[in-house]
Amino acid sequence: MTEILELGLLDGFERALAGDRLRLVYQPKVSLKTGKLVRVEALVRWDDEKFGAVPPSRFVPLAERHGLIDPLTRWGLDTAFAQWRRWCDAGIDTGLAFNISAMSLEALDFPDLVSAKCEQHGVPSDHLVLELTEGQTQPLTNLMDTLTRFRIKGIGLAIDDFGTGYSTLMQLRQLPFTEVKIDRFFVTDAPDHRDSAAMVRAIIGLAHEIGLSATAEGVETDAQLKLVAAMNCDVVQGYRIARPLPPEELPEWIDWWANDWKSLGLGD
Ligand code: C2E
Ligand code: CA
Ligand code: CA
Repeated sequence: MTEILELGLLDGFERALAGDRLRLVYQPKVSLKTGKLVRVEALVRWDDEKFGAVPPSRFVPLAERHGLIDPLTRWGLDTAFAQWRRWCDAGIDTGLAFNISAMSLEALDFPDLVSAKCEQHGVPSDHLVLELTEGQTQPLTNLMDTLTRFRIKGIGLAIDDFGTGYSTLMQLRQLPFTEVKIDRFFVTDAPDHRDSAAMVRAIIGLAHEIGLSATAEGVETDAQLKLVAAMNCDVVQGYRIARPLPPEELPEWIDWWANDWKSLGLGD
């Protein structure tokens, strides 16, 4: 990206964040044992008048490079927790998954900030899962203290995009994760490619052997859904189940999915 374009985008992003013009959408993650909603993953959206819909893969790294990731994370936590509280009040039983940039974890008091926000909004921290991907600047293994503090507070930790990027077996062994999210690259390929199917099966087996839950992300077709179910995967997420939804659409989706799940004939 040229420097001028990056500065223009940065300026636009800073204004959108300050002006509360970002929004969150929520993508359901469902249990393959029961078909029930386990939690929703909050994903940030920026629709700009000038730049159009800018994907988070563009502006999150920009925020990281220019000291705006902490304000983005704090805005996201407040927005997601306020929404979560409204769902709780409406009798909707869901946990919440929230993406955290490895950079936000560098502050040792970050776990206290997250639990203070849980208390402030009255949401159950033991149903919160933070999703982490390793940043380019900081290996997750340097963040052991911070991650352990989250676990002491009962907050779950998922390693995102497992099998690609910067995730390694060493991190899985050393860090207190509770969930592995299998990268959609393998999931997409699995019904048609034996090697990808073998990877998915192996990651699920590995996760279970070390006491973690396995989530397949990017499930788009019945074939992918049935395959990961047959491999004893715990949780699924992807366009086949639901696209990321504006919060007001969640109740309607829950009803729709209950019927869809029955028609799939999976689970107990
Ligand atoms: P991620 O955490 O791996 O999120 C999953 C991405 O896959 C999302 O893209 C989601 O919209 C997309 N997706 C979900 N199901 C499917 C599917 O079935 N097929 C396909 N092709 N894609 C699917 P999105 O929302 O563009 O987010 C991209 C990345 O940006 C996320 O990857 C996450 O790393 C980051 N991100 C998103 N929101 C936040 C945030 O609030 N804070 C931080 N730090 N990072 C965020
Ligand atoms: Ca994620
Ligand atoms: Ca992912």
